[in-house]
Amino acid sequence: MAPLSPSVLVDSIGEAASIKQNNLVYELQADGADIITLSLGEAFFDVPAPSFEGLTPAAHHYSHTRGVPLLRHKLAKYHESGSGTPVDPDCEIMVTAGSKSALFMTLAAILEPGDEVIIPEPLWVSYPDQVRLCRGIPVSLPWHATVDDIAARVTARTRAIIVNNPHNPTGRRLSDDELRTLHVLAETHGLVLIADEVYSEFVPGGDPFVSASVFDPDKRHTVVCNSMSKNFGISGWRVGYVIAHESLIRQLAKLQQHLVTCAPTILCHYLAENFEQILAHTRPQIQQVVERRNRVAEAFAARGVTSLPGDSTFYLFPSLGSSRLDSTEFADELLRRHRVSTVAGISYGASCDRFVRVSVGAEPEDRLLRGVEAICDLIEATSTAEETA
Ligand code: PMP
Repeated sequence: MAPLSPSVLVDSIGEAASIKQNNLVYELQADGADIITLSLGEAFFDVPAPSFEGLTPAAHHYSHTRGVPLLRHKLAKYHESGSGTPVDPDCEIMVTAGSKSALFMTLAAILEPGDEVIIPEPLWVSYPDQVRLCRGIPVSLPWHATVDDIAARVTARTRAIIVNNPHNPTGRRLSDDELRTLHVLAETHGLVLIADEVYSEFVPGGDPFVSASVFDPDKRHTVVCNSMSKNFGISGWRVGYVIAHESLIRQLAKLQQHLVTCAPTILCHYLAENFEQILAHTRPQIQQVVERRNRVAEAFAARGVTSLPGDSTFYLFPSLGSSRLDSTEFADELLRRHRVSTVAGISYGASCDRFVRVSVGAEPEDRLLRGVEAICDLIEATSTAEETA
């Protein structure tokens, strides 16, 4: 075997589709192309550049595995004030290098080879591959599946359910009834409910967000993964966190020690010292992004293009209607013909090939609306109805 030949498992994993698409955009932009970028999974805010002046010298070094204590306290309080669920900052939370690593460590900590993890579509692109990397089996359900369909899919091999709430890309939030049903399922079958809440601030009009943890205050089966990436508009800082029962946090801490030691310490110190100020600064901007997202949904609707229901987050998942192109062909053609970058719906699951993902976070409104027009024009230009007319 050649020295650098990959393992069968890693070789079988694809690139993260959204990141791959954005790498292409970065390359095209570097060649001078003007791309309307609706594929980036982040919202650009004005966040004041951090100054590290005056931070303790400890900020330059490794921190405790579970994270800088002051940040843990602030995050625990933040979660508690949003959800009413107390979190012990000393043992029920760990600061991580983004929520992506929190999700991966959670899966690595709970899965035995062959365990099934139920993931409703549209699914965030990394879930199935993270499950596979942990030698589990992702079981996806089509986009129209209900919580009753999830219940029907539970088998003796099921170990966990992953829900993303609010949801990338539809913007849908789970209702209290749906969350309750999921908790009953978890409790009845001894499953872990992994709640990815990285868009928890993106609820229109400041409506309260209902965390999955509300229905499981003792953290018997719920793991909440969250992050500063989207909610604080600082995805590049790589700071996230996981809230779980202390017995699971102990297992996750071992993984973190062997993988990254701790989250970026200097940024964690800065965040801890400036937590409330950053939040006060970003919250109004989040509301503006959500409002923009919902105006973009209206612009699609005005052209007869429907999106899957939802109003939170900064994404939409519009339907390709009667276009004869599949979502990969559509996204490629849109980039080639109109210089508009989206992510093909198929990346979000086999049932999603009639959609593309649009993010409104990285472009001003006039360019977003140009992107919407280009999508609608391409749907019309490639629609079977048009062609047979
Ligand atoms: N979950 C979802 C649903 C996401 O969309 C993303 C990023 N696009 C993440 C998790 C990971 O974010 P991070 O690691 O930056 O916290």
